[in-house]
Amino acid sequence: MKKSDKDRKLQREGWPKYVFVTGGVLSGVGKGITAASLGVILKAEGFKVSIQKCDPYLNVDAGLLNPVEHGECFVTHDGKETDLDLGHYERFLDFETNKYSSVLSGGLYQELIERERSGGFHGKTVQMIPHFTDLVQEKIEKASEGSDVHIVEIGGTVGDYEGPSFIEAIRLFANRVGRENCLYVHVVYVPWINTSKELKTKPAQNALRDLRGFGIIPDVVVCRTERSAPRSICEKIAAFSGIPGEAVLNLPDIESVYDVPFNVLKSGVLQILNRFVGTDTEPNMAQWQEFSELRSKKWEKTVKVGLVAKYVGNEDAYICVTEALKAAGAWNHVNVDIEYLNAEMVTDEDFARVDGLLVPGGFGARGAEGKIKAATYALEHDKPYLGICLGMQMACVAAARRSGKGDAGAEEFGAKPEERVICLMDGQDGKGSTGGTMRLGDYPAKLKKGSKVAGIYGAIDVVERHRHRYEVNQKFLPEIEQGGLVISGTSPDGKLVEFVESPSCRFFIATQAHPEFRSRPLNVHPLFGEFVGSLSE
Ligand code: GLN
Repeated sequence: MKKSDKDRKLQREGWPKYVFVTGGVLSGVGKGITAASLGVILKAEGFKVSIQKCDPYLNVDAGLLNPVEHGECFVTHDGKETDLDLGHYERFLDFETNKYSSVLSGGLYQELIERERSGGFHGKTVQMIPHFTDLVQEKIEKASEGSDVHIVEIGGTVGDYEGPSFIEAIRLFANRVGRENCLYVHVVYVPWINTSKELKTKPAQNALRDLRGFGIIPDVVVCRTERSAPRSICEKIAAFSGIPGEAVLNLPDIESVYDVPFNVLKSGVLQILNRFVGTDTEPNMAQWQEFSELRSKKWEKTVKVGLVAKYVGNEDAYICVTEALKAAGAWNHVNVDIEYLNAEMVTDEDFARVDGLLVPGGFGARGAEGKIKAATYALEHDKPYLGICLGMQMACVAAARRSGKGDAGAEEFGAKPEERVICLMDGQDGKGSTGGTMRLGDYPAKLKKGSKVAGIYGAIDVVERHRHRYEVNQKFLPEIEQGGLVISGTSPDGKLVEFVESPSCRFFIATQAHPEFRSRPLNVHPLFGEFVGSLSE
């Protein structure tokens, strides 16, 4: 479709279009990546795509969820703490999600109860239907503003205890915008039974029956399998579920998530998508193809990054950091080997073994000494170091200790007032609630002219996302500088330290911000690009 045609079409009724992605049988089979891949294809056809996750958890937001259990907490530019799926969405679609892009039941209940307490319901009884379901629909409309196509992923699987009101809300949504403007995609798992050597379709049939029980007959069924399934399997599921055969697609496992968009295209979904959005174009996947090839290539050179961290058991706990490193490796034409170094027991031998050290964000005293040790080692052995948030705070403590202030520490870890190189900032005394009391989202910084970091950004004024409660104590700036670090970036008023660097090291840069949240496969963050580049020098 020519752009002008599309523009005309957008002015007509019926836009945006909505794609709802639900799951059946079990969760964790790639529903989020499937949803994001549909977005990649639509974006590659020239549509403006937005995407949102509705999670039935009773949490208000994802800020207090345990990273070991739930993976990393992602932060949007406008400061919402969300599920890591939003990170996948941003990486896949190279766009900025916002505070409406993540909806959790707890947040919705809180909003409804506050409205009820303030008399907002004028004495009416407040119910799941219509009040909760209306609120879900409002959030969906809000998140879709300005897009051509809006994708909504519903967390968990259909039939979960917490889920029905979300499923009901998306069913009702078709009444609001017209069924023809909604595409329901159900992702089911088809297990391979090794003893009988066959794929079993019964769980998928049951999952489709469950969805039908809620009044939704999906337009697309995605069958996730370990290995490629014969067409007859999809036809069988189609026959038992009253869905046309061409709408039941197979998505076998694939090594890299970045190849899923190609797998989705191969499955035959394009025809259905194109019919839905009224176009007959082919998506332009050239850039994506280039990245996918670079990413899967085995390069001659391998660089080893030591990730000095607390949660070494769950790779998802630092997923934005590891994805940024790997993408930086692809564009730098090196393999990046990430070694998780347990901050609680790390030694100088571990530091010596790797080509560079990365200390990511973190909370709590556990492992803090190991992170200080890593920064000290990097400063003393010219080992490339990238410090993120806590990784910058610990670098400042390391520098202060090197200057002779041996008792330097952080308020968060119980240091006495006169020892606090890192301390609580005004207005963040943590009184009251633990959730949502941090400096969150985008904040500007001014970089020092001529600093390494200004050279890497190619700018003096930068904006990065934040998620922290503590700050560098201004009283200790002389000690930090004596210990070998330069303050190379501050908040525009000069009051908060945002970046530090070592002028004598090959690469030693640390920031109070979280640059990993803005790194995209097709647009790698320059700090990660340069850090990985410095490891093969
Ligand atoms: N715990 C530190 C703080 O709250 C660092 C936070 C982080 O690394 N994200 O300031």
